[in-house]
Amino acid sequence: MNTRGLKTPERIEYWSKALPLIQEAHKDTGYFQNYWFSDDVGMRGDRVGGFIFSCSANRDRSRVELCLSAPRSADLNHSAFDYLYERKEEIEKEFGDSLHWWREIKSNSSFITHWNLRHLITNREDWPKLAEYHASMSRRLYEVMTPYLRRWNKENRLGLENFPVISAAGVNILDPDTFTDEEIHNLTLPSLEMLAARCSSKNPVKETITRQEYKRNRIITEYAKRRANGICQLCRKPAPFKTLEGEPYLEVHHVEWLMNGGADSLENIVALCPNCHRKMHSLNLSEDVRKLKECTFKK
Ligand SMILES: [Zn+2]
Ligand SMILES: [Zn+2]
Repeated sequence: MNTRGLKTPERIEYWSKALPLIQEAHKDTGYFQNYWFSDDVGMRGDRVGGFIFSCSANRDRSRVELCLSAPRSADLNHSAFDYLYERKEEIEKEFGDSLHWWREIKSNSSFITHWNLRHLITNREDWPKLAEYHASMSRRLYEVMTPYLRRWNKENRLGLENFPVISAAGVNILDPDTFTDEEIHNLTLPSLEMLAARCSSKNPVKETITRQEYKRNRIITEYAKRRANGICQLCRKPAPFKTLEGEPYLEVHHVEWLMNGGADSLENIVALCPNCHRKMHSLNLSEDVRKLKECTFKK
């Protein structure tokens, strides 16, 4: 058994590769078009209720699963499970392999799982095979189970349509906020996309940022802009656009930064295009500083 640790970015890497294949396999059903992330190892639990087809990859085993967890309906979940379990042999024959049947007494849910111990997420070389497994076997599980569930529903007049039948891929990850900058930097574009989709929320957390601002003299600022006459004092190109008032847009910059003790004075102030202004704050190259100092003293 491979006990090597698996970092969360690697998991995301795997799922960003596997999901398109899984989605392709379920194209006509619409399943797996959405996915969610789970921070525990399993997809199980009451967080999402319904009859759930899922794909997961734990460190030591992979699986596709049907989880019967209609919300607040332990009886119905068990009824569906029992119906399927009575047809276990038939179902496993159709599926082509044996399944793990787990009827939970205490909790709401029951599970029918296919385990795969051969292809592990901890082994990168397994990834193509594992993705193929998740795609084809989740599809097969869906195809075998759905007609039985329909019959169960019909025979019991339970109104299955009241239970959301949903699907998910088990992207078991930690909170991306715990990623180091380096880990984020090393993520591939599809992984980043997946994470970004997860991080985008309609109600972003509000954070209060306090920052001290230096009061600039408006006269000096105005003068610096006027002196520049619409031309950036670093790159010597015209301002990129005009303001609503028709003035060339330039930003005022202190050559010696105010936070480093620079003065808010004519000798220390220049007008820059936004690009050059950013450049000064990102790099502050000494040759640029020299150039700017020259032009403030010239006049
Ligand atoms: Zn410029
Ligand atoms: Zn500045």
